[in-house]
Amino acid sequence: MRVVIVGAGLLGLTLGYELAQRGAAVEVLDSRASGLGASAVNAGWVVPAAGAPVPAPGLVLKSLKWMTRKDSPLYIKPSLDPAHVRFMVRMWRHCNSRDFREGFAAQLALAESTNEMLDDYVRDGVTFESHSSGLLMAFLDRHNLNHHLDELDIAASFGLDPQVHLGDAVREIEPALRDGMGGGIYFPHERHLDPVQLTTSLRRRIIELGGTITENSPVDRVERLDERIVAIRSGEQRFAGDAFVVAAGAWSGRVAGLFGSPLPIRPGKGYAVDITPPPIRLQGAINLSDAKVAVTPYDGRLRLSGTMEFAGLDEVVNDARVQAIAHAPGAYFPDYVAPSPVPVAGGGMRPMTPDGLPIIGSLPGTDNAFVSSGHGMLGLTLAPGTARALATRILGGALPPRLLPFRPARFIRQARHMPALTPSGAHR
Ligand SMILES: Cc1cc2nc3c(=O)[nH]c(=O)nc-3n(C[C@H](O)[C@H](O)[C@H](O)COP(=O)(O)OP(=O)(O)OC[C@H]3O[C@@H](n4cnc5c(N)ncnc54)[C@H](O)[C@@H]3O)c2cc1C
Repeated sequence: MRVVIVGAGLLGLTLGYELAQRGAAVEVLDSRASGLGASAVNAGWVVPAAGAPVPAPGLVLKSLKWMTRKDSPLYIKPSLDPAHVRFMVRMWRHCNSRDFREGFAAQLALAESTNEMLDDYVRDGVTFESHSSGLLMAFLDRHNLNHHLDELDIAASFGLDPQVHLGDAVREIEPALRDGMGGGIYFPHERHLDPVQLTTSLRRRIIELGGTITENSPVDRVERLDERIVAIRSGEQRFAGDAFVVAAGAWSGRVAGLFGSPLPIRPGKGYAVDITPPPIRLQGAINLSDAKVAVTPYDGRLRLSGTMEFAGLDEVVNDARVQAIAHAPGAYFPDYVAPSPVPVAGGGMRPMTPDGLPIIGSLPGTDNAFVSSGHGMLGLTLAPGTARALATRILGGALPPRLLPFRPARFIRQARHMPALTPSGAHR
């Protein structure tokens, strides 16, 4: 079977790798070099425990408060664009306890074997820097910690062993934290890795397994005969196949539109700054939970990342937010001095969905097209599980039950209203 995948980020490359391992002929296309999207601007955390959906109880109030601050960790650009308004209204409707808990459990199930799968990757020759030192959510404010206590039962039911450390007891986990902390929640089984090394190595391994990576080829047309996709095109280049997958990150809504099934995927922009050498030594990855900044210690450097901006489909860097990210650790670590000047930051767009859950499975209205996108803040954590389950479906197997909560058909009403495509790819 020949499978053509649009997008060479974490989702496209893990799927390409999984399919190539099972003997499929794989072609992964990207509009530029592979691995440059959100997959490069990433905290590198493999953290099912932090896998709660973005639409959460209390988010609406918080987002309204933050909208007025230039350096806030969450920003929703005021816009009357109907697609933006529709998306936000739908997201706010999902900010309730039932959807939040169900979504969290579904994502935990999808991520259940991620660590074992990554270990399989390593045994197969995929190489990347990796640290199994857990994840600490650190809180200056005890009230902020208290808000998370209600959801710990879900993480515990998946064997993630959350440990609550009140007040300065959190310094037993991370001695670099200051006195007078509100506390922390430690998840001992989480890990972090270098996402760029992972995508680079997956790319190499796909080629070794006989697959092809075609770069600088933005997909702009789809050829179909009735319900069947025959080929996709990038300019004059034509890529025929038996199955096609949209894994184009924040651009997936647009690319799925070429297949006649536009999906409500919008960009949630964030930034990452690498500081070399690291200004402080840490025991492991830390979520500065009040500031919403991720701190990731790598060999010889410290990565700081954060911000969720619902604005345009672009990777332009907002300096005020980058400054806020670079200075945030100062409130937590007495020995931290922010770099001056702040190093150049990267901007990346998380593919966000209104219900905060990824969209994985068959594209409505087609026999042989699939989507793997909308993984939001968890693309690295969920990529191996997504790839393994979706590869089974693409190669003709039954839909693995753990993919059911993520089926594209939940957005099918939008798909039905789309104009059909002619065999040449033009809208009728
Ligand atoms: C600041 C930040 C920190 C994060 N930290 C974490 C974390 O710690 N853990 C975690 O699990 N997740 C994290 N994430 C989320 C994670 O990075 C994303 O969910 C993930 O990278 C999405 O991967 P993707 O392959 O879907 O998209 P991308 O990596 O964006 O890849 C999409 C690719 O599609 C290509 N493309 C687009 N349009 C076309 C076209 N028409 N034709 C061909 N190719 C096209 C793009 O060029 C791009 O290479 C973070 C994200 C950000 C921004």
